[in-house]
Amino acid sequence: MLQRLAALRADDARWEQGRTFSLVYHAGDEHTEFLKRAYALYFSENALNPTAFGSLKRMEREVVAMTAALLGGGAEAAGTMTSGGSESLFLALKTYRDRARAQRGAAEPLEIIVPRSAHPAIDKAAHCLGLRLLRAPLADDFRADVDAVRAALSERTILIVGSAPSYPQGVVDPIAELAALAAERGVGMHVDACLGGFQLPFLRDLGEDIPPFDLRVPGVTSISADLHKYGFAAKGASTIIYRDRALRRHQFFARSDWSGGLFGSTTVQGTRAGGAIAAAWATLMALGRDGYLRLAAGILRTTRIFQAGIAAIPGLRVLGRPAMSVFAFAGDSGGPDNDGTSVDLMVVADQMEARGWHCDRQQHPTALHLMLTPAHAPVAEAYLPDLREAVAYARAHPEAAAQGSAAMYGALARAPEGIMVDEFILHFLDNTY
Ligand SMILES: *Cc1c(COP(=O)(O)O)cnc(C)c1O
Repeated sequence: MLQRLAALRADDARWEQGRTFSLVYHAGDEHTEFLKRAYALYFSENALNPTAFGSLKRMEREVVAMTAALLGGGAEAAGTMTSGGSESLFLALKTYRDRARAQRGAAEPLEIIVPRSAHPAIDKAAHCLGLRLLRAPLADDFRADVDAVRAALSERTILIVGSAPSYPQGVVDPIAELAALAAERGVGMHVDACLGGFQLPFLRDLGEDIPPFDLRVPGVTSISADLHKYGFAAKGASTIIYRDRALRRHQFFARSDWSGGLFGSTTVQGTRAGGAIAAAWATLMALGRDGYLRLAAGILRTTRIFQAGIAAIPGLRVLGRPAMSVFAFAGDSGGPDNDGTSVDLMVVADQMEARGWHCDRQQHPTALHLMLTPAHAPVAEAYLPDLREAVAYARAHPEAAAQGSAAMYGALARAPEGIMVDEFILHFLDNTY
């Protein structure tokens, strides 16, 4: 059976060779072996009940304290670990909803305001929690448009969200302005730093120009940061940190009259994997500041090589001013190098897939997305020439836009937004599972 398991992955994406640009955050084989051993040591333990496993309680408190300190939390800062960014965001929304209900400060239906680039995990959480989500348009630089957010505020608003950075273009929203707006109106301000929480602070220390984004900014009331992304921990680990305990209290759940005994729960989960907590703690302790700085410096070098290589290909441009190793590039429609034929990025994607690269396609605008990790340091040399060839092919073969997956993405891009395409996605999921 174990041999079968090993064989089953034969056709999977080749993440170890740096051929994927999302999904796996790889800091080297030695680190992965270390994570596995740390995880295995706490494989059976359960963090549901903090009195049974004092070890896990201690590790979770220390992970939260280290993360809070990294992200500018003061002595009052408090949080929990969660299973991932989606859970951290779900809990943030639950917290602000329950606080609003307890304080009766906002009119129903309760509303939250997010930039259009905010991660769909927030839409999903709002949907589940019965919150109305208002999407504010972006400015030309792909960052949240503060005036649009201001215009969307009402007596029903309980929360403004900003990203540091956003997933699609990797830009940091104007957190200070958004937080000032939130403070002025007495509403919450959550920063989704699921991607950047364990990368931006180190880039800042390396001298990069990183705008203020964390709990140091007045008005920011909570922040989420994923350990299982650029924290390089094992999957199943993220954090949610609040400015103070009084706010965190609304995240918790209690039921005292159950026949199974007194029940209290801090997160969405009941049973909580001890291994994910142990591996995250071990990673923070083992890497330390110096380890993260070293990783960030390497990722920054790789990012510059990729971005310079992309910018050097006539017809391509990087979108906005990405803050870190997450960014998108699109066809240039009017740059000095443009020869008049615009490049169809979906044809480029098909060509790159034929060359063994797993591509992440984006829309509004049509673009390809890259998320670079230490696994990509050795692959720029192979990626950039392939990209150059793929772009040349797309220019020479306009008919390719009507073939392969380019045809489908083209049709979807032209379809009116909303229900029809949602139905298409749901149909796909129905047939996949
Ligand atoms: C990945 C991500 C999330 C969701 O996190 P999961 O761990 O995949 O649940 C939320 N926000 C941003 C910006 C992300 O990149």
